[in-house]
Amino acid sequence: MRATSAKVAVQLQDAANSEKVSKRFSIGAERALINGEITSASIEITDGFITAVESALPVTAADIHVPEGVLSPGFIDCQINGIADINFVDADKEQMEEALALLASHGVTACTPSMISAPIGELVAAINTSDCGEASSANAPRALHLGYHIEGPFLSDQFARAHNARYFHDPSRENLQPILESGRVAIVTLAPERPGALEAIASIRSAGAIASVGHSAATYDQMSEAISAGLNMVTHLFNGMDKDVANGIIRAACESEELTVGFIADGIHNDREKVEWAFAHMGERIALVTDALGSMLGDEPVRVTGQSPGGAYRNDGTLAGSTLTLDQVLLRAISMGVPLAQALTSATRTPARALGRRDVGEIRVGARADLTIFGEGGSIRTWVGGVEVKK
Ligand SMILES: [Zn+2]
Repeated sequence: MRATSAKVAVQLQDAANSEKVSKRFSIGAERALINGEITSASIEITDGFITAVESALPVTAADIHVPEGVLSPGFIDCQINGIADINFVDADKEQMEEALALLASHGVTACTPSMISAPIGELVAAINTSDCGEASSANAPRALHLGYHIEGPFLSDQFARAHNARYFHDPSRENLQPILESGRVAIVTLAPERPGALEAIASIRSAGAIASVGHSAATYDQMSEAISAGLNMVTHLFNGMDKDVANGIIRAACESEELTVGFIADGIHNDREKVEWAFAHMGERIALVTDALGSMLGDEPVRVTGQSPGGAYRNDGTLAGSTLTLDQVLLRAISMGVPLAQALTSATRTPARALGRRDVGEIRVGARADLTIFGEGGSIRTWVGGVEVKK
C-alpha cells in the first residue's frame, strides 16, 4: 500500500518534471514566413524557443497542422499609444499587462508602448507607473514590452499635429536625461532642427535607444547632420512632416540606408499612392506601425466615429491616430498592393532588427517561439514563448 502510493508519487513527480524540463511540440505550415519568403515549413518548439526549422518534412506530420493562412513571427508594433480604453500615458502596471495581453490576441507579440508629449516629470512618472517589465512575471502569454517610444516633447511647433505644443521643449541635457535615466526607453522621436538636438541624438544612441525624426520641419541638410550624429529612424513617414519627396526628411529617408522608416499603411494616414511609393523606394527598411490610441489623446478624449473607419479623431476633426491593431494594418497594406512577404517582414524582422533584437521577429533556430497564424481576417492563432494566447 505504502509502496504503491510512493510509486504513484514518483510517477506524478516524473510527469511534473518532464513537463517542466521539456515542453516540445511542432507546427507544420503550408505557408510560413522564413527568411523574408513564403515557403512551406515544419518547426519544432522546445521550452518556448524554436529548436528546428525544416522545409523537407511533410507539414501534415506536425502536432499542429496549419492548412490556411501564413505562419509568421509575431508582430512588433513600434508606435502604439493605447488600446480599447487603456491609455499608456495614464495606465498602471495592471492596465499595461491587460493591454499587452489584448495585443497578443491580435498577433502582436512585442511592442514599444508610446507616450505623446507631456510635461517631462509626468512622462517619467508615467513610465514608472506603467512599466510592468519586459515579459509577464505570471508567465501569462502577453506581448513583450520592449521599452517605451517617447514621441515628444522635443518636436516642432510647425508640425505639432495631435501633440500639445504647450509641452514642447528643446532636447537639452537637463530635459532629456530624466527620460533616459528611466532605463526603459527604446525610441525617442525628436525634431533635429531644435537647438541641442545633435547632442541629444548622440546621448539617445549611447543610452542604447533609437533616435527618430518626427513632427519636424528639418531640411535635407539638417537631416544629413542628424544622421551623422546617429539619427537612425523616421517616425511615421509622410505624417507630421513636409510631404515633398524631393526634399527634407523624405528625401533623406529615401537616400539613407541606415534609417528604419516607421510607416502607417492604413489607408487613413496614407493612401494607396503613398503606400506604393514608400514600399517601392524603401520597402526593405519600413517598419509598419499602427499609431493606435486608446480612448484618450493626452488629456483629450478622441472620437472613433470620424471620417474613416479605424481612424481616431479629435473633436475638431483632426486625425489623431488609429484604433487598428497591427494585423488589421497588415490587411490594409496588402489590400493596397504590398506583397504578402514584404508586408509581414515589415511588421516582424525589420522592427526587431531596428530595436537590436535578434531573439524576436524571425522564425529561425534560437529565436523565441513568438508566432502567429495570419489569415484573411487578421491574426487567427498566436503563441508567445510557445504558450498559446487565448482568444
Ligand atoms: Zn505622431
